[in-house]
Amino acid sequence: MSAEARRREYLKALEIDVYTKRGLGVEDETVGCDDGEREDDSLLDWDSLRQKVSNCTRCSLHQTRTQTVFGVGSQSADWMIIGEAPGAEEDRRGEPFVGRAGKLLDEMLRAVHLSRDSVFIANILKCRPPNNRDPSATETASCRGYLARQIELISPKIIVAVGRIAAQLLLETDAPLGSLRGKKHQLDDGQTPVIVTYHPAYLLRSPTQKRKAWQDLCLARQVMEEQSQ
Ligand code: URA
Repeated sequence: MSAEARRREYLKALEIDVYTKRGLGVEDETVGCDDGEREDDSLLDWDSLRQKVSNCTRCSLHQTRTQTVFGVGSQSADWMIIGEAPGAEEDRRGEPFVGRAGKLLDEMLRAVHLSRDSVFIANILKCRPPNNRDPSATETASCRGYLARQIELISPKIIVAVGRIAAQLLLETDAPLGSLRGKKHQLDDGQTPVIVTYHPAYLLRSPTQKRKAWQDLCLARQVMEEQSQ
């Protein structure tokens, strides 16, 4: 049993509720690395961060992944696009959003005059959950320091969260995606605006919602423009 699991057992035996924080904040001590170590990613430079991610064994997903998926795009991007986790194609190619949903994401970006190279695309998780299941709390907790450091280093002017899981984790909320769309949120750093939109995989299944996703990206562009005034 891992140190973390053991600690949870002790807390349970003591009838102490284990608090699991949903967001990216790194202050929560009751969840995290499978091996119980609290690793600090907050001082890593880009290359060391990339290296650390590629060798990561913090959660059990390292046992089933082909490779980690760090992210792609410009390190000085104004826009960061954040999805949930790599799928089968991303796991095979080591790059986020390269499957069918990725092609649609590219088109959505083009519609607001952005390209894959001009933004930075990342995921909440750097490894593929088997069978594309939702990320577990342990997995998101183990991975969150990586994304938090990516955001710090890139310092984007705006983040677009695609899909419910990314939106809820970034904004530390359980609110449904529909209620998070259409407004400007803020990351817990108190400065980075976050806009929420549908996941392109959902849009492939429900193409009539594409118009709403387009409106979300227009809102993101408007927020960007307001910031640079
Ligand atoms: N879905 C995601 O959320 N991310 C990817 O990289 C691919 C599919």
